[in-house]
Amino acid sequence: MPRKIGFLGLGIMGLSMAKRLIGAGHPLTVYNRTASKAAPLVALGATQAATPREAARGSEIVISIVTDSPDVEEVLIGKDGAIHAAEKNALFIDMSTIAPETARRVGRALQAKGIAFLDAPVTGGDVGAREGTLSILVGGEAADLERAREVLGVMGKRITHFGPLGAGQTAKACNQILCAMNMTGIVEALHLARLSGIDPSLVVEALSAGAGGSWALEKLGSRIAKGDFNPGFYVDLIQKDLRIVQDAARPLGLPLEGTALAQRLFADNQKAGEGKLGTQAMYKAVERRIRK
Ligand code: NAP
Repeated sequence: MPRKIGFLGLGIMGLSMAKRLIGAGHPLTVYNRTASKAAPLVALGATQAATPREAARGSEIVISIVTDSPDVEEVLIGKDGAIHAAEKNALFIDMSTIAPETARRVGRALQAKGIAFLDAPVTGGDVGAREGTLSILVGGEAADLERAREVLGVMGKRITHFGPLGAGQTAKACNQILCAMNMTGIVEALHLARLSGIDPSLVVEALSAGAGGSWALEKLGSRIAKGDFNPGFYVDLIQKDLRIVQDAARPLGLPLEGTALAQRLFADNQKAGEGKLGTQAMYKAVERRIRK
């Protein structure tokens, strides 16, 4: 059934996700801070809104996917936020990666106005967003998830309910530990292969089928082997996420030493002006540490 959707944030992820929703027949009103980025969606039939508030008007569901916690607060509950023009019984779904505490705070502000809210961050990268194969990690009321399930199913192939508001973001924080650790292993392995004189692309191909294989080795290891450091997921964004991870672990007394190592390597990327490269650029940070 077509649902009127307001869609906020047309970055690497949002643009592809919004395209899939239009393709599935849902009428979309889109907002992006840099207005020109909405052009490909307008060409597909979307209506463009000048503010998040305007995008929410007439929308049964409002989906946001912007950068960080303050950005979600701005587009949903800020001065021109979607909250101010929300329809009666509207459902807001935030799919950005943000702090669990912010998701709970935003949820409380929305609920006070009678607006339902789910935190529903995603994993599966730019490829998953394009192909509709994301894994969607949900926190909030089960009944609200059921209202959204069909729409979420256009963007993701696996939808998991973890518990109350914020629980989706906690699951996403766990995922970011895995992404960071995977990348550390991949870049060390591919440097060892290269320095020892074996072909890194063969290593990626053969090991992807074995016990050391992973999504990251297959998708991002192959980009490293081709010298492709273009972003699917920015170094700057994983650093934002790893700060969220450390903030979640600290009060629990849990030391995340592996995560801290990945943060140091990504910080080296940022210092070298590589924050807008993909996370596979950690390969460059390790390369700079090789003793000649
Ligand atoms: P991106 O390409 O940098 O896009 C960020 C989007 O947020 C842009 O549309 C940007 O608008 C908008 N934005 C940021 N701050 C804003 C503000 N204060 N007000 C209004 N709009 C604002 O990033 P992305 O890769 O799509 O990531 C988006 C979210 O998904 C992040 O939370 C990220 O951690 C998460 N995520 C990304 C991936 C991935 O592989 N890329 C995977 C899973 C989850 P402008 O165009 O005006 O800058």
